[in-house]
Amino acid sequence: MHKKNLFLVTITGILLFTSSFLITQNVLARSLGYTWYVASTPIRYDTILNPTWKTIIQKGMNTWNDVSTKKQFQFNSSSTNATGDISASNRPADTWIGKMFPTTGSFSGKTYMTRADIIFNTKYEFADGAVAGAYDIQSVATHELGHALGIAHCHDADSQHSSGDQDYTMYNYSFTNETKARSLTQYDKDAKNSLY
Ligand SMILES: [Zn+2]
Ligand SMILES: [Zn+2]
Repeated sequence: MHKKNLFLVTITGILLFTSSFLITQNVLARSLGYTWYVASTPIRYDTILNPTWKTIIQKGMNTWNDVSTKKQFQFNSSSTNATGDISASNRPADTWIGKMFPTTGSFSGKTYMTRADIIFNTKYEFADGAVAGAYDIQSVATHELGHALGIAHCHDADSQHSSGDQDYTMYNYSFTNETKARSLTQYDKDAKNSLY
């Protein structure tokens, strides 16, 4: 059995998500409740992580970019995590493996994402590929980048999942020793296409 850990139930702004989910469940079932403002504007990305991590995370960005020309991730080269719209870094934390911290703003009465900070929890082992006891960097990055687009988990509660949901990149849990979340399912692709 793979080790199974809670991924990202604790997203900042969970109340906002819950309320918008209840109101517009049919339309935004896969949305955190907010997206970036203009669909055609690229999201600039920067990281203070080392070149190996940079390159791997960029692969996750390309995976989402391949879904559509809308909301492309654009890799910056300034090597400071202050200049991009989204950043990636790492630090020790509690139970989550990776987490996306959104910053939102309000324009014309609607809430939009204005920044996303992706953190990898250094309490866990990470690797490039399927390695026993380690989480695949690219798989976790692809999942978190989905959140950075405004995509929510497929379901909130374990009881709501259907068989096959665990194949989704946007499933609630991450697994060691596998790379499945690197590849988007049709569900994940539809989720981006429903937002942009
Ligand atoms: Zn998540
Ligand atoms: Zn599900």
